[in-house]
Amino acid sequence: LGSTGSIGVQALEVAKQHGFKVAALAAGRSGYELESQIRAFKPAIAALEDEQAARLLRIAVGDTFTKVLSGPQGVCEIAQAPTDILLNAIVGIAGLRPTLTALTSGKKRIALANKETLVTGGELVMRTAKDSGASVIPVDSEHSAVFQCLLAAPPDQKIKKIILTASGGPFFRKGRQELETVTLAQTLKHPNWNMGAKITVDSATMMNKGLEIIEAVRLFDLPQEQIDVVIHRESIIHSMVEFCDHSVLAQMGTPDMRVPIQFALTFPDRAPSLSPSLDLTKIGNLSFYPPDDQTFPAMNLCRESLKAGGLKPTALNAANEEAVRLFLEEKIRFTDIFTLLEEALDDQPALPAESIEAIFEADSVARRKVNEKI
Ligand code: NDP
Repeated sequence: LGSTGSIGVQALEVAKQHGFKVAALAAGRSGYELESQIRAFKPAIAALEDEQAARLLRIAVGDTFTKVLSGPQGVCEIAQAPTDILLNAIVGIAGLRPTLTALTSGKKRIALANKETLVTGGELVMRTAKDSGASVIPVDSEHSAVFQCLLAAPPDQKIKKIILTASGGPFFRKGRQELETVTLAQTLKHPNWNMGAKITVDSATMMNKGLEIIEAVRLFDLPQEQIDVVIHRESIIHSMVEFCDHSVLAQMGTPDMRVPIQFALTFPDRAPSLSPSLDLTKIGNLSFYPPDDQTFPAMNLCRESLKAGGLKPTALNAANEEAVRLFLEEKIRFTDIFTLLEEALDDQPALPAESIEAIFEADSVARRKVNEKI
């Protein structure tokens, strides 16, 4: 899912390298890109969420054996396709329903890049995964790093804390005043990673790290107090785990998403990678700093949303998706994102996130409120 995006394209590179059979593909509206993927990988089914784009794609690939589905329902059908693994690399809450659909249809492994799934419906998703006996393997590089560090210890291991690393983004060490005038082009220039537009903006606001704290709480079932964040400019250490004896394990490598994508697919085995080997002598130094929570309040807002619980993280995520969209459309300033996030957190009552209906209701209310303010 999300095959035409940054993660999706890299996942298909990995699939090609290792000869995985790609049985099904889905994306939002990029018909042209999906058509070339259909021709290259020959899946039995494919889907586009956008109905009009799907209609055009159906005509374009009429000479192939691939059946083209459409709409959110079509994407959910792709999630249920009889495959060993589902890789979910959709961006945003649009990935939540397909994840839940896959879990309830008996899928045994979900390689999850779509962090918004765990932020908006994390409790529900992890409970459903547990009930169905499915494993959710993280693709996000930080969570893959933690997952890999935890493999080194027995299941009843005494974790003191998880330390998520953050690059600090393009505006590391900038003051709040300077942030008032940063441009979209500056925001989209991430120092170490080449990613989709939404996550690149999230990295610049540090909201990405906040979302990752929530993701880690859900995936590893730890209280947020046991999840620390450290700025690590080089993005070589992808994250760490400190155990009760103060031994710290770190997972390292060149910043290349093909590594965590591949590990989520080949786990528990490892396989040769297209990613370049790490040469620490070329890197020279690794640097670490505390995050600046005053200038970049998004991470703490995520912590607050976790503390209040229920639908607060859902509303915060929805406001962020809308705010980032508006920033990408150059309708608001960079720092307006923070204001919209603060207001969304205040506006959302602390109701339980017990059903998918409640989650989507909170999501749409939070989105509407953001748009009413613009
Ligand atoms: P992109 O924006 O590059 O790609 C998003 C993908 O989702 C595209 O294929 C898009 O299709 C598809 N999509 C969007 N909306 C829908 C929808 N409603 N139904 C079906 N498909 C949809 O995002 P990234 O690849 O950067 O990120 C994907 C996820 O992975 C995000 O949750 C992100 O936070 C996470 N992630 C990404 C990393 C990265 O390096 N990029 C690193 C770690 C995590 P279309 O092209 O047609 O619009």
